[in-house]
Amino acid sequence: MGNKPKHILIIGSGLAGSTLALELIQRGHIVQVIDNLAPNSSSRVAAGIINPVVPKGVKKTWQYQEIFPAVFEYYRNFESLLGAKFVFEYPMLQIHANDNERHEWRKRGEVNEIKDILTPEGDNTIVNNCGRLDVLQFLTATQNALEKNHQFATEQFKHSDLIFLESGMIEYHGNQFDDVVFCEGIGIMQNPWFNYLFFDPTGGDILTVKIEGLSNDKIIKQKQWIVPTQQKDVFLLGSTFHKKSISEVADPMDAKFLLERAELITGKLVTLIKHQRAVRPTVQNRRPYLGRHQAYKNLSIYNGLGAKGSALCSWLSPMMADFITYNTPLNEEVDISRIQEIG
Ligand SMILES: Cc1cc2nc3c(=O)[nH]c(=O)nc-3n(C[C@H](O)[C@H](O)[C@H](O)COP(=O)(O)OP(=O)(O)OC[C@H]3O[C@@H](n4cnc5c(N)ncnc54)[C@H](O)[C@@H]3O)c2cc1C
Repeated sequence: MGNKPKHILIIGSGLAGSTLALELIQRGHIVQVIDNLAPNSSSRVAAGIINPVVPKGVKKTWQYQEIFPAVFEYYRNFESLLGAKFVFEYPMLQIHANDNERHEWRKRGEVNEIKDILTPEGDNTIVNNCGRLDVLQFLTATQNALEKNHQFATEQFKHSDLIFLESGMIEYHGNQFDDVVFCEGIGIMQNPWFNYLFFDPTGGDILTVKIEGLSNDKIIKQKQWIVPTQQKDVFLLGSTFHKKSISEVADPMDAKFLLERAELITGKLVTLIKHQRAVRPTVQNRRPYLGRHQAYKNLSIYNGLGAKGSALCSWLSPMMADFITYNTPLNEEVDISRIQEIG
């Protein structure tokens, strides 16, 4: 690293905070992470599906070229670093709901831009280059590695305890930092410096279920998805999208709906093991928020990953770490300087 190592405080160890911490450490910085380990955080609940296709319009996902050639390798490098297994590649079987949908996918499957990842299979379509990040395993492995070096604290961060020193450093509970990066997910709503950024939170339910005899070699998707886990006959089933909901209370009606859908899709008995509900930190135009505060230059934000944190982090976390280290420009679609603070 050409620049002087910085002392950096990261608030939040979800997908954003964990991948950023690893990136910053690799660039030679001294990192401290604080997280309250809320069990219903978006990352601790997420299925971690990595999917290169947007079903609406059957298109490659935003920034496909930046993300997809390397997303699995990105997490495999962290597997080697952390000595744990958490990324799995599977094809996804897209089950078409009707002839119109099948026709649309077939037509799009002939277009050069997307045909390399779509393969017809009977009445349905296989989407290649898909997989799953076992997010909880990844977060746990990262936390363990940070804890070994006394770089992780399990506690509630208090914004009012930050002290801005004349030297330009920031003090928090007796320790001084060059930079503070907020990776708080939906916790951003309590952040006094960045709560001017508009979020459009989306509540989501996910079930852990038992489905005996269902093959675990692929992800199955119609509107809902069924994702294999490393345990025999155990799958993740999701999800719901409750617009503007910030409730983390799991409603049994959502579980009933998902179980019925899964039984229809698989033709098998689906038994509930666990029901979780979390809130995705979604931005209305689906473009994340990265960057420095306009006035407090050593406060930064990395948030707004919405429903696609697993894939996006492989592109955005190296970008954010380079921005902090070398001041290299952020992609203009994600840079918060696109939004003016009011007041
Ligand atoms: C049901 C569901 C299914 C999903 N499935 C997928 C999927 O298949 N694929 C995919 O890519 N994405 C999925 N997502 C979305 C994905 O989870 C998010 O994009 C991602 O987890 C956001 O990560 P984050 O680090 O920004 O936020 P978070 O995961 O919310 O992390 C923020 C962290 O900061 C902590 N924190 C906040 N404030 C404080 C404070 N004051 N003090 C201490 N700690 C604090 C929180 O406890 C949390 O640990 C899903 C989400 C849901 C809800």
